This record gives sequence, structure tokens and C-alpha cells, in this order.
Amino acid sequence: MVARTLGDDGGERPGRRDHSGSADEGTVEHDLHGPRGRLMETLRERGITDLAVLRAVDLTPRHAFVPSAIQHRAYEDAALPIGSGQTISQPSVHARYLSELRLTGHERVLEIGTGSGYQTVLLSHLAAQVFSIERVRELLDRARDAIRRVGARNISLLLGDGTFGWREYAPYDAILVSAGAQDVPRPLFEQLAEGGRILIPLGTRDDQILTVATRRGDTLVRRDITPVRFVPLLGTYGWGE
Ligand code: SAH
Repeated sequence: MVARTLGDDGGERPGRRDHSGSADEGTVEHDLHGPRGRLMETLRERGITDLAVLRAVDLTPRHAFVPSAIQHRAYEDAALPIGSGQTISQPSVHARYLSELRLTGHERVLEIGTGSGYQTVLLSHLAAQVFSIERVRELLDRARDAIRRVGARNISLLLGDGTFGWREYAPYDAILVSAGAQDVPRPLFEQLAEGGRILIPLGTRDDQILTVATRRGDTLVRRDITPVRFVPLLGTYGWGE
């Protein structure tokens, strides 16, 4: 596995970064606030009430994370293709997903499946440090560029099989798995802090139940949330390729 971080700042400095005032970095301006405002309304209508999550959505320019040909659709509450056969989820799905973690801003979080990097940046507004692993180099490279452009600094990225986790920075207060598995990969369980939560779609290759599990000693206390369809988690402790 090759460690690929965002440079000197990547992951070393805890602390949230509010990039609404990121004129110093900002090649991505807060110029689509109109459509983003409408997205916020849609999320509220769809029952998202978690203010920290709504704020994270408001601070994150989704258009920076989708291919230019579909940027005009970036603020629809719709899943969109991001290339390499992968999709970026609907914002309301991200929002619901993130609300389940009940982050307070102090956590160290591991994300498996960086994809476009959009959710990674949402997380960066909700936690102290975000570690994210992606197995497709092309996606990770694009995500790294987009993350740089929006100016998020408390994020470290790794190219590799996320089913092994990222032992170096464990334990994690929360782990988010953005792809579906049959069961919680053993290394991810081991890298979860006592009382920490893992959010993971569990089921078959095609259909899963979004599950949140809390570590209590050597066991995971599980709760089912909702039926979902995620792409398969591929790898040593996931599905075969
Ligand atoms: N949350 C992302 C979308 C993720 S799609 C976003 O906001 O854009 C799921 C991602 O998981 C895909 O990019 C896929 O390549 C990745 N993935 C699947 N199995 C993986 C594994 N074992 N390790 C790391 N990434 C994996």
C-alpha cells in the first residue's frame, strides 16, 4: 500500500476548517450559493434536521466533485456518475448517513471509498481528522485535486485496499464504509475505538441494509437503518473482483 497524503498539512493538524472564508485558497468560489441554498431546502424537506450536517453541506461546493459535463446538476438531490464506473450518492443519502455518526467535531474518522472526495470534505467539517482510502488511483487523484481546490486540510488520503483499514492512525472514533460488504471486515472492527461507531452497508452484492454498529469490548452492537444499494466493497476482506 502506498501512502498518499495531501502534503505537509495532510492529517497532521486537528481542527475544523470553515472554508466559507477561504479566499486565500479558493479557486472554487461560493458562487453557486443559489442552487446550494435550494439543495439545503430540499434536504430539510426530506427530513434532515442535523444542523452540523446541514452546515457541512452548505460549506461544501459539490460542483467541484462532479465531472464538468454535469456540473449544472451538482445541486440536485440526485446520484451522479463520477467516472471509473462509480457514482457520488444523493446529498440526502450522505446527510442521513453522516447524521447517524453523531460527530461532535473532535473525532478521528476513517472513510473507506473516497470516490469523488465529496463526502470526505463533508466529514472534514464534522470531525477533527479524516483518513480516507480509495482503491482506484484515477479517482483518488481527482479527489485529491478537488479537495485541494476547496481548501480542506484535515484530510489524509491513501491508495489501497480499505478493507485492511489504516492501522497507523487507529483507533478511529468512527468508520464510514461507502461500499457494500457481507460483513464488517475484521481489521476495521479491530481499528475501531471502544464506543466507536462503524457505518456500513451489509448484505449481498446488489442489496444491502445500511447498518450502524457500536463497539462494546469484543462485540459490535448493531442497528439496521434502511435498505440501500451501494457498489461492492472489493478487496481481501470484501467481495472478490
Ligand atoms: N462517497 C463517495 C462515493 C463512493 S462510491 C463520494 O462521495 O463520491 C464507493 C467507492 O468505494 C468507489 O470509489 C470504489 O472504488 C471504492 N471502493 C470499493 N472497494 C474499496 C476498497 N476495498 N478500498 C477502498 N475503496 C474501495
